This record gives sequence, C-alpha cells and structure tokens, in this order.
Amino acid sequence: MAPISTTKTGQPLDRQTLDSMLRRRLFYTPSFELYGGVSGLYDYGPPGCALQANIVDMWRKHFVLEEDMLEVDCTMLTPHEVLKTSGHVEKFADWMCKDPKTGEIFRADHLVEEVLEARLKGDKEARGLKVDREDDADAKKKKKKVKDIKALRLDDAVVKEYEEVLAKIDNYGGDELGSLIQKYNIKNPTTGGDLLSPVAFNLMFQTSIGPSGGMAGYLRPETAQGQFLTFQKLLEFNQQSMPFASASIGKSFRNEISPRAGLMRVREFLMAEIEHFVDPEGGKAHPRFDEVKDIELTLLNREVQLEGKTDVEKMSIGKAVSTGLVDNETLGYFLARIQLFLKKLGVDQSKVRFRQHMANEMAHYAADCWDAELLTSYGWVECVGCADRSAYDLTVHANRTGAPLVVRETRSEPLRIEEWQVDLNKKKFGPKFKKDGKAVEAAVEALTQEQRESLAAGLKKDGKIAIDVPGVGNGKVELEKDILEIVKRTRVENIREYTPNVIEPSFGIGRILYSLIEHVYWSRPGDEARGVLSFPPPVAPTKVLLVPLSTNPEFSKLVRRISHKLRGLGISNRIDDTSASIGKRYARNDELGTPLGVTADFQSLKDGSFTLRDRDTMKQVRASEEEIIAAIKSLSEGTETWEDVAKRLPEFLEQQVD
Ligand code: AMP
Repeated sequence: MAPISTTKTGQPLDRQTLDSMLRRRLFYTPSFELYGGVSGLYDYGPPGCALQANIVDMWRKHFVLEEDMLEVDCTMLTPHEVLKTSGHVEKFADWMCKDPKTGEIFRADHLVEEVLEARLKGDKEARGLKVDREDDADAKKKKKKVKDIKALRLDDAVVKEYEEVLAKIDNYGGDELGSLIQKYNIKNPTTGGDLLSPVAFNLMFQTSIGPSGGMAGYLRPETAQGQFLTFQKLLEFNQQSMPFASASIGKSFRNEISPRAGLMRVREFLMAEIEHFVDPEGGKAHPRFDEVKDIELTLLNREVQLEGKTDVEKMSIGKAVSTGLVDNETLGYFLARIQLFLKKLGVDQSKVRFRQHMANEMAHYAADCWDAELLTSYGWVECVGCADRSAYDLTVHANRTGAPLVVRETRSEPLRIEEWQVDLNKKKFGPKFKKDGKAVEAAVEALTQEQRESLAAGLKKDGKIAIDVPGVGNGKVELEKDILEIVKRTRVENIREYTPNVIEPSFGIGRILYSLIEHVYWSRPGDEARGVLSFPPPVAPTKVLLVPLSTNPEFSKLVRRISHKLRGLGISNRIDDTSASIGKRYARNDELGTPLGVTADFQSLKDGSFTLRDRDTMKQVRASEEEIIAAIKSLSEGTETWEDVAKRLPEFLEQQVD
C-alpha cells in the first residue's frame, strides 16, 4: 500500500485543507470555472506564477548554465509526419475501459490500482477493529457490524497478491489489465456496473494546420522531437564538438483519460527537457561523473519490483554505475544532478526515490529509464523521468527524411578494414536488367560480409551466382562473373561516422511545484487552521513582507523606501499596511510562504534600525537598514541561511508598541 505522507510535525498531510488554502491564496485555480471547468486544466495565480518562474530560473541555472547546454524553444504544433515517424501516433497511448451503460471512462491501470488499494485499506482497518460488547448492546447492530468487518477482511494470501500486483502495475499491457479486472471482479466504482475490456487511447490532441485542413498535426506531447530535429544545426553551432546537450522549456499536451489528481495529472503542462547527445562507444562515460560519484541515491530497481516488492536500496551513484545497476555514467550523472536540483528546491530528501522502469513499462524509444519519484498525498509520483533513448529518435528521423543525423569525426588513427567489395560491370548490368536494375543493385549492396564471402566462392566455382531480389521475376536473379566481381580489399577509413545516443532527463514542472508545496507545508502546533509553506527563500514566490507597526504615515514612508530599495535589487516584496495585528499579517504571509518580514516601528523612526523576522523560527534580529537589506539579499540568493544571519545580527525579542 502507498505510504502516508506526513508533514514536518509528523501529522498526516491533510490534502483538502492544503488544497483549499492554495486555491484561496490563488496559487492555482481550475480553468474556465465560470463555465463549469474542464478537468485537467488549471490556471496559476500570482504566487503560483512566481513560484513556477523561480523553479524554472533555478532549473536553468542548475542545468543550462552549469552544463553549458544549448537551449532551444521549438513550436508546440507538430506535423503528423514527425510524430508518426517518432512512433507517437502508433504507441503514445494509455489503456482505458468504458462502462457501456453510463458511458463513463476509466484509465485501466489507475482503476485497478485504486480498487486494490481501497480493498487493502479496508482490510487494514478491519484488522484493527474490534466488536465491543458494551458498544454494541443491540444484537442486530452488532451482527451487522461483524458482517461489515468480515466483508472488508482479505485472506493473507490475497493481501500479498494485491501488493504484488500493485508493485508491478506500471508493467501491465492492455490484455493483462483486462485479465486483472476480470480476476478481481473490478467494476465501475460508483455504479457497480460491468466494464468493457481495455482499449488503447492515444493521448495526443489532434488538429489541422492551415485553412485547407490538408495538413494534419498534433499539439506536441513532449518537447523532445523539436530538439531532435534541430540536432544537426546544434551540432554545427557547437562546432561539431561532442558530447553536448540541448534543453527546452515549454508546454506539452496530453489528453489524459480521467485526470483527477489536481496539478499532478493535467492535460497541458510545463516541461523542462534535456537531450544529452553522447557517443555510444566508450560506455557513455561522462567527463564530470567524478564530481557526483559519491552522492547517495535511494534506488528501487526493476528486479525488486518484478518480485512484487518495493524495497529500496541506498547506494552511491558511483557504485550503482560500477555494478551495472544504472547502465552508464551519463545516465548516472544526470540522476545525481536531478537529486541535487530537487534538494536545492527544498524537496524533502526522505521523500525522493529513483525507480527503474520494468521492461514493458519503458516507452517505445527507451533502452533504460529511471524516474525520480516524490512521495506525496497521492503516493509516489513520477516527477522527473530520465531515459536512455539510445539512437532511436535520430535514426528514425534520418531514415524517414534522408538527413544525415550523424556525427562525423576525423580519426586520430586511420582505421583499416578488410572487407568483401562488389564491383558491378555497369556497361553490361544496365542493358541486362533495364527497369529492374535499381532493385537488383540495392539487393547486391545489401549483401552482408558473410554472404559476400560465400558468394565469392560460388562465383569462382560456378561462374555465376543467384541472389534474392523480391519483386523481380520469380524473386531470384542470376548474375554471371562478367557482370560482377566480389573481391576482398582493405579499406582505409579516416572519418568515423556515428549516430549519437541520447540521455533525456525530462521534468514536469507542475508536478515538482505541487510536490514541493506538499513537502514544505505544515501548521504551527496550536494553530492548525493556518498553514505555513516553508519554501527556501530563493524559491519562495515573495521574499519579504514589509509591515509598518501601525497606520502611522511615518512608518508607511519607511517601508515604502525599503520596498523601493529591494525592488532595485530585484527582490520581490509586498507591503501589508492593513490595520490587522502584526501577528495576523505575518500569519497571512506564512500561507504564501514569504520567508522574511521587516517591521518599521518607533525605534526605526529614531535610529533607522529595523527588525527582520524569519518565517520558520519566528525569531527576529534588529539592525540598521543597510545591514537588514544586505541580509535579505544574501538570504534570498541562498548564499546565507537564517542561522548565519542570526549569528551576525543581534536578536530582537519584543516589538515596541508605542
Ligand atoms: P514522460 O515523458 O511520460 O516520462 O513525462 C515526463 C514528465 O512529465 C514526468 O516526469 C512528469 O513530471 C511530467 N508529466 C507527464 N504527464 C503529466 C501530466 N499529465 N500532468 C503533469 N505532468 C506530467
């Protein structure tokens, strides 16, 4: 069963309260609500926008800037041909089943998951329930209660079986999900009605480009294809130097079957994706792997899941790569960098795990894949996928378009290759085969080295050979020795040509944003109704709350001056000059996650000093305007912590009221 997510005070996270706080404070709101809303579509309000912008900014600095990546911004509208070639038209689908009576549609894997989890939860509760004699004096009532409890209880073997199915849920295809639905008697949860067998549903939104309707297209389901199609230009831009990575931040669209998990599953979402192009030879080593090799990750490998378990193992990424658990250094490097990024954002490190994909679960293009999953009230949720897409995408696009999506490198040592070469006597070949010439020539070119070797022997012995040429004559063509020769020669290759492999870390910004909110959410003991969002200052939507002690215009002047100075430094701040008590004003901003508060009071008028308050500890320091602004700057940039500041500046215990 999915573990329960608790807040930092050890309380189970109350999602309903958090959700209503986030909507009330306009972090996000359902889109088109006046028209009844559309599931899976949300708008972000001011704190949501600021938070998202800060996450994106940190992402850009952590990846694009740090790794010198080549950022691109490609269009979202994508022609059918591109996504047909990439395999998305055929395979980018989830399994859905329909209730033929009500017309309701369920995502098959989610339905199985939900029903089995609910049954396990019922069983767990029933095991903890006792039928007490005194409580149940009424025999009829007691009988019913016993019956109810009995109905919820599962055999130990069934519990084990359900847990095993849940551990492997992502690995099932349509037929298997259909069998599970039958086997476990899973019905429409609201009506109890029967469901039809699962069918594949393509998740892409289809459209047509241009007025004629002649060009079919889709809203992109990922940013990746745009990056692959600019590969050649980026390689040129990078002066043919490998390895390199492209990066892109932009919206993607997926017509999710039944999105009911708030920001976690939406139909339009912001993605930040990296395509790191690497030479497949040399084990996909990464030049900076040494910098991260000692970082410990929590890993859930594929074998454990296939045994029906979810036991994790803590391991340094160096060891995970050297033992072959993580396929190669580049993949390992990015897993460690993803963990560092999540840590920087303020994600609770005890709620991060990396789960390896099982074979069937892997996307059609992937060779190995690990998801960074975050523990939330929705269970473990994939927030970053990190896939080794091998040479799949570049190869299919090159085959379809004929463009050489390859790297050409001059060899330091020329390569000498012994090989069988075929020489055709064009003068005789053309007149003999006429219109079939092309097909015959292609069949000859396609002969493998082994075939060539044995055909060379045949030609020498019999003076002629026969090869398969589909569609010409009876499918076999005879070639005499005056038309072709097969000879062994040494070829010298100065240039090496290869198709790079791609390691792709793919971030869902909305999922990260929401999980982060859950991780930093808590309420102060004794004041449970009011939430606090303990964002680290660099990521917080607003950094500083400015509060004049009272409505005295002199105080107002002071806070306006500080606000102006902070704006000049690019530090977001808000003035709250309402007449609510200072405590109330601070509490309101705890809900927005504002980490710092500055108060202007009588002392400020006298000596120009101000107090600075820390949201989490509620401690205050007092110092000159200059020192307070300098402290705010270093705190919001993340170069100092509150502990550092509290050591430097004198503590302030009580606000002077008159
Ligand atoms: P994928 O290409 O399916 O591995 O998705 C890459 C990332 O996009 C995931 O790790 C999620 O963070 C995010 N993502 C995928 N689907 C959704 C969705 N429906 N809503 C929000 N984020 C999503």
